[in-house]
Amino acid sequence: MGRELDTTGTFCPVPILKTGRIMKELAPGAKLTVLSDDSGILTDMPDFCAAHGHAYLGSSEEAAGVFRVSIRKKRDGGRTRALGLLSGGLDSTLAARLLQDQGVEVQGVHFSTGFCMVDHRRALSRPADLEEPERVRNQALKVAGEHTIPLEVIDVADEYLETVVLNPKHGYGSAFNPCIDCRIFMLRKADELAREQGIDVVFTGEVVGQRPKSQQRATLDLIEQEAGMEGRLLRPLSARHLTETEAEADGRIDRDRLWHAHGRSRKEQFDLANRFGVDDFPTPGGGCCYLADHNFARRIRDLVAHSPSGSIARRSILLLKVGRHLRLGYNAKVVFGRDEAESTFLAREVRDEVWGVHVTDGRGSFGIIEGAPDRTRLETAAALAARYSRQRGCERVKVDLIREKSRESLEVVPATEDELREWVI
Ligand code: SF4
Repeated sequence: MGRELDTTGTFCPVPILKTGRIMKELAPGAKLTVLSDDSGILTDMPDFCAAHGHAYLGSSEEAAGVFRVSIRKKRDGGRTRALGLLSGGLDSTLAARLLQDQGVEVQGVHFSTGFCMVDHRRALSRPADLEEPERVRNQALKVAGEHTIPLEVIDVADEYLETVVLNPKHGYGSAFNPCIDCRIFMLRKADELAREQGIDVVFTGEVVGQRPKSQQRATLDLIEQEAGMEGRLLRPLSARHLTETEAEADGRIDRDRLWHAHGRSRKEQFDLANRFGVDDFPTPGGGCCYLADHNFARRIRDLVAHSPSGSIARRSILLLKVGRHLRLGYNAKVVFGRDEAESTFLAREVRDEVWGVHVTDGRGSFGIIEGAPDRTRLETAAALAARYSRQRGCERVKVDLIREKSRESLEVVPATEDELREWVI
């Protein structure tokens, strides 16, 4: 890639003069390869680069007595710029710090997928969470603020749901987590953004061998390849175990100052965290993505199995994160709040096509019924509402079936424990 200049048949000072002319035309950061059969080029060119502040990338012998020498034009301001996928976890923070430590200008990007547990906690506004602000803090923004990393947050939820979550080429992990497709998707997006903004390098906090599936060496290579970033994706924490990237080869990134973390022990990361004084970070693998949660996985599988069109609305995904879910039939599912915050949240979901169900005295979980329930399913939902109330021990309980503009009362026998088990998802 880059421009090529053939100076064969000419001798000192012509190759350097021609090089100088072309360098004036090139954009900052552009690469130039010079062919020369003057062996003096091997010393002249490094001297020329040193004098002008360009990067000397190296030489090879193309054919007998013909040398290929590569150089890169200096950048304005001279600093390499890198864009990192910033999750707010320790690894991506350390990767960013390693680059900052060698003078790289680091920026971050965080893709909002719609499956972040913290985002959901914020939506529910539970008093206990609000009293403990760390539980609802956006960790990527926190890290960006603490380490002076300009961060762009981009909502990709609709595209991510359709192309990654519902149709992953590489399948799922142990829950409903399409981690390989997820990484490929995010890297493509980051690469696009980097190109648009003229950023030199894209990096991640991945560590070779740290995760059983998505971070094995062969998988990391596959992800890089399918993201179209072969030789261009920097993984600073494990760089010394990986093939040299273009940015390391041409001197924009100093490979010797990158790290050598490997495997599941996080000792190397903790050493590095010590060095950079990073002592406040979320628990490793502390669970921040619903797709890796097994309860959520059961619910989304059930939703997919009961969506004949195969397409799923974003609102349905939102509801999967709330309450207890019970499937009453192909066309009827009921969801009950597990606490006051969830009941309040669900009560706001009642509309013409979504029924609400609640014990008439109001002292129980609020539920919603989705789908097209027949009379029997509605009565079953009412029996469940009675079960999830303070009157669960009574013989008969008054329950309201609620629509946006109407309300119907009926008396039911509370559902039994066995019935609950039969329907729970
Ligand atoms: S756990 Fe979730 S966010 Fe992380 S790689 Fe897997 S699917 Fe993507």
